[in-house]
Amino acid sequence: MARYTGPVCRLCRREKMKLFLKGPKCDTMKCPVERRPYPPGEHGRDRMRQGSEYLTQLREKQKARRIYGVLEKQFANLYEEATRMQGITGENLLRMLELRLDNVVFRAGWASSRSQARQLVRHGHVNVNGKRVTIPSFRARKADVVSLRDKARAMIVIRHNLDTLDRQIPPWLEGAGEGMEVTLRDLPLREHIDVPVRESLIVELYSK
Ligand code: SF4
Repeated sequence: MARYTGPVCRLCRREKMKLFLKGPKCDTMKCPVERRPYPPGEHGRDRMRQGSEYLTQLREKQKARRIYGVLEKQFANLYEEATRMQGITGENLLRMLELRLDNVVFRAGWASSRSQARQLVRHGHVNVNGKRVTIPSFRARKADVVSLRDKARAMIVIRHNLDTLDRQIPPWLEGAGEGMEVTLRDLPLREHIDVPVRESLIVELYSK
């Protein structure tokens, strides 16, 4: 259950864009990308120039990993699995990332960030088809019902998120139970995955 535990705002600055990893802070002027829109480190400003083709592909992969909070090995395994599936490899990869349980919790609007969603799952606040699941990387399937457990429904942080987050549930999810439950109507299509990632560059990188 390894995960990145370093400073997350550095990750956004390294990608030179907001990845929205911190919830409410991301929409304020406290966001370091607003104040210092260049990579971190002593030579951060020097890294603003355009890099090689390889660098562009690498950055795209790192961006996807960071958005979904997936480590290198796990990401490479997902890519391998995506290549064995029918359809477009890049889209398969993104679809598998979207179907992670922590991402479904985030998309349902119960958590302000994917890392908070991950914590809700790890702490046992989420059921899948009526059974508690505590594995953030658990892959949801079509027709699965993901819901908050009774104790979680009364948690202030979740009620606050439901009341204040201005986030639309994606079309592949259907909300029910006063927002405390979602059903996977279908598998997500590429046009329903709003992450700023060019997955074709990731495929090019791994195909070398
Ligand atoms: Fe990224 Fe949010 Fe930190 Fe801004 S505040 S750098 S968007 S994690």
